[in-house]
Amino acid sequence: MITPRGVKIRFTSVKTALSKTGLPELDYALNPYIGCYHSCIYCYARLYTRDRDVSEKWGEVVVVKTNLLSILAREVQKYPPGIVGIGTITDPYQPIEAIYRLTRRSIELLLKKNFATSIQTKNPLVLRDLDLFKTHREQVDVGLTITSLNEDIRRFIEPKTPPYNARVEALRKLSLHGVKTWIFYGPVIPGLNDDEETIIQIVELARETKSTLYYDPIHVKPFLLNPNHQLYNYITGKTRDWWIRVSKKILDYCIEHHVHCKPGFTGNSVNKV
Ligand code: SF4
Repeated sequence: MITPRGVKIRFTSVKTALSKTGLPELDYALNPYIGCYHSCIYCYARLYTRDRDVSEKWGEVVVVKTNLLSILAREVQKYPPGIVGIGTITDPYQPIEAIYRLTRRSIELLLKKNFATSIQTKNPLVLRDLDLFKTHREQVDVGLTITSLNEDIRRFIEPKTPPYNARVEALRKLSLHGVKTWIFYGPVIPGLNDDEETIIQIVELARETKSTLYYDPIHVKPFLLNPNHQLYNYITGKTRDWWIRVSKKILDYCIEHHVHCKPGFTGNSVNKV
């Protein structure tokens, strides 16, 4: 099936819905879709996707887990409640969610059984579920990935994502309604979005929306080291010192502006770039 956005949709059934995760602050992970329309050029989720059709044509094929909800309904009966990362591999609010609503219905099931959900997205479609978040404030937090506020940069690195200002407005609205929010400032890429102006803008946004700020350097995977990759010139020849310098700058601004700031998923394992 081909959607109006030109994405091929396939269907599959799964044996499990929740998976254990080693990600910090999370007990389980849930990913309603395989593949991601957003097509960020730095995305390495494809490396963890066994479906070759999806990983080789990243952004062009998305697979819907048709029996996800019935499996999840069983799992929430037998697993102890914990924090579930929603969209740890692919974006749970990518456009296909507007049609299939697997993310929303999964969150409903989880909240009902006293699980907490930690959602990460680049898509303001998340606002559709504000009603749900407002009635379960204690069990929900929502993170928006904001890598810059410069649209030229977005068009370059995240070509099929919603504009930054739409994400900023989504973050503001969630925060205004008392939903716990966070910003994911990552990947930070040398010479692209690591400048002082970007850092100040993002820290200021975190302050305004009372969001925790997670920051994370680019993870240099082999596909980025191909000289034909658009990011190749940004990541070669840089050293570990670059990230020590940039992360210190981020931290300093956070301290100055009383923003709660934390390293992202890599913790201290700074990439060698
Ligand atoms: S939104 Fe996330 S999962 Fe989707 S392409 Fe971008 S980085 Fe990959």
